[in-house]
Amino acid sequence: MCYSQCSLVGSDAGKGASGSAGSTGSADGAGSGKGPASGSASSENPYAGLVSHLRAAWLSGKTRPLEYRTAQLEALGRFLDEKKQEILEATALDMGKPSTEAYFTEILLCKNELHDTLNNLCCWMKDERVDKNLVTQLDSAFIRKDPYGVVLIIAPWNYPIHLFLVPLIGAIAAGNCVIIKPSEIAKNTEKLVAETLPCYLDSDCFAVVTAGVEETTKLLENKFDYIFFTGSATVGRIIMEAAAKHLTPVTLELGGKNPCYVSDTCDVQNVARRVAWGRFFNAGQTCLAPDYLLCTLEMQEKLMPALRAAIVEFFGSNPKESPDFGRIVGDKQFRRIQALLCSGRVAIGGQTDEKERYIAPTVLADVLPSDPAMQEEIFGPILPIVVVANMDEAIDFINARPRPLAIYAFSCDCKVVNQVLERTSSGGFCGNDTLMHVTLSSLPFGGIGNSGLGKYHGKFTFDTFTHQRGCLHRNMGLETLNSLRYPPYTPQKQGLMTAALEIKRKGMCTLL
Ligand code: NAD
Repeated sequence: MCYSQCSLVGSDAGKGASGSAGSTGSADGAGSGKGPASGSASSENPYAGLVSHLRAAWLSGKTRPLEYRTAQLEALGRFLDEKKQEILEATALDMGKPSTEAYFTEILLCKNELHDTLNNLCCWMKDERVDKNLVTQLDSAFIRKDPYGVVLIIAPWNYPIHLFLVPLIGAIAAGNCVIIKPSEIAKNTEKLVAETLPCYLDSDCFAVVTAGVEETTKLLENKFDYIFFTGSATVGRIIMEAAAKHLTPVTLELGGKNPCYVSDTCDVQNVARRVAWGRFFNAGQTCLAPDYLLCTLEMQEKLMPALRAAIVEFFGSNPKESPDFGRIVGDKQFRRIQALLCSGRVAIGGQTDEKERYIAPTVLADVLPSDPAMQEEIFGPILPIVVVANMDEAIDFINARPRPLAIYAFSCDCKVVNQVLERTSSGGFCGNDTLMHVTLSSLPFGGIGNSGLGKYHGKFTFDTFTHQRGCLHRNMGLETLNSLRYPPYTPQKQGLMTAALEIKRKGMCTLL
């Protein structure tokens, strides 16, 4: 276990080591002379001191001014600029992430979120005036955009910067103090974040905790005011259970199997390129990737040469040699994905190399719903094709399964795409492409049902980390008007109060 609040965390940062503000020392922050007022670290709860240190900072109100939030957000921008090369190198070491993919997802999309937030924060933070009734006409009624307090962000390994940084942008923008728990699986990136990010942020309000399962379990015993979790549904349930003990609200960004329907009327080569790009990006380790295709037998036959051509176009005849194709993050994950290759018939790819954790871009044909590849989220470079008779059968297939993070539908006929959209339910939807809806910070991003709870990106992230506090500030005078609601009650007072408070249905005749 380790947490880092400032620049002096040494190169030994990582599990088993610890660093705190101004020192490498105990986990209660006391090494910095800024230890907690209560709840110091102990083996039972090694994070109590850190959490109460951040809580004291939050209660002091220092995170509330626009200038403070802007300065911290700008520091995040400097982190991305100055550590860009290290980020590309760390993600390459962790999972052979191609540098263009790393730049696009870990740097560019994060900077877009940051700039969107900085451009609009002043406006988002403003009190929102609301409609009033007759009785409160002279008063002030508004929604105050309050921070929650001390929030916890837990991230997975597949986009190890993006998936803690984008929520962090919103959490800072909304005025919270934050503990960031990156994934221990992407260990090079985790180390980089623990060692460098705290140098950019105010150590009183923001800390990075490096922790495995055991330590995270202890971290979760503390009371947070909001928990933002990205990861698997299994762990999502554990997070929600821990949060329930403190009645802490949560966002759960989970995964699952994203279906992709390809109708008989489409430009086959374009579909193949767009599907192959989305499936094999980051070697398939993308929560939003199209997990399997649904199409007719005829379309499967047409797609196969087109998919083969797309794979060769992207990665050459030997994808293992391509600098643009990644690797599986760990041995455990490699073996899990490899075991799915026995589903259906390997039509393209299928080669593996355990030493390199390489799995070739693979397409499986004639996969049955009962095959292993259809029992769990694939999260690797394998694309099964399940044959259906028509669109109605595809829709029934989708609706018979847990609601996914995304549904994709390809067709030259808009009506087909719209039918799939209207007759199914999912976190998000993209017609005639894959993944691209995630590039719009104007769209909410999040799951539904098994794929998660809550949403973020752009203003939605700010709103997620903001408590909308309903406020009424009344005038002290006009007591005669107020006396209408005080006892002793009379039918006359009741009639006048009803007239002042009642909301009438529009278009209803008021004469009767
Ligand atoms: P994971 O659930 O195993 O781990 C996520 C985080 O939870 C990590 O930081 C990990 O340390 C922590 N964790 C693991 N076990 C824990 C436990 N028992 N108690 C407390 N914390 C624990 O997920 P992963 O393997 O890192 O990521 C893959 C999963 O994440 C896939 O299912 C993928 O679809 C999903 N995902 C979803 C999104 C999204 O935006 N919806 C994005 C990326 C990944």
